Amino acid sequence: MARAFLSLGSNLGDRRTALDAAVAALRATAGIEVVAVSPYLETAPAGGPPNQPQFLNAAAALETALDPEALLDLLQAIERRLGRERIVRWAPRTIDLDLLLYGNRIVATGRLRVPHLRLRERRFVLEPLAAIAPQAVDPITGLTIRQLLDTM
Ligand code: ATP
Ligand code: MG
Ligand code: MG
Repeated sequence: MARAFLSLGSNLGDRRTALDAAVAALRATAGIEVVAVSPYLETAPAGGPPNQPQFLNAAAALETALDPEALLDLLQAIERRLGRERIVRWAPRTIDLDLLLYGNRIVATGRLRVPHLRLRERRFVLEPLAAIAPQAVDPITGLTIRQLLDTM
């Protein structure tokens, strides 16, 4: 079993219901135990097309038997099931599920980078994550989430 952390975001439709549904889908999955979910945080969109609606962001901690690639497959399947359409990169979306950390593993394949490449530069990711796992360590820098947030 490994401890993994996810980022959840929505800025289209009923955002709270979309985050709730994603958490429920994770809880219903064999091989996954959801150990913590952060409060939902309203954030301004960063990047992407202009005049996007506000995001609702959260972080979740999992205990999982799935390896990182299988976890990504699962996250993408949940995104599809919740009606996410990929048209324009960083455009408004019903749900975005990103894998932030997977234990202290570093993964770099064509379709998966762990830790998430933009983890350190995103307050909307670090802030919810710090609410549930301030002492989690980024294996690239050796810094905790609290330290990454404090040095932004
Ligand atoms: P960003 O990566 O800037 O948060 P995004 O989440 O909107 O952008 P998506 O369209 O959700 O981007 O995903 C684009 C691709 O990112 C996916 O097809 C996936 O293969 C890849 N990817 C690489 N690393 C990760 C990761 N750690 N978590 C989720 N997706 C990842
Ligand atoms: Mg993302
Ligand atoms: Mg994504």
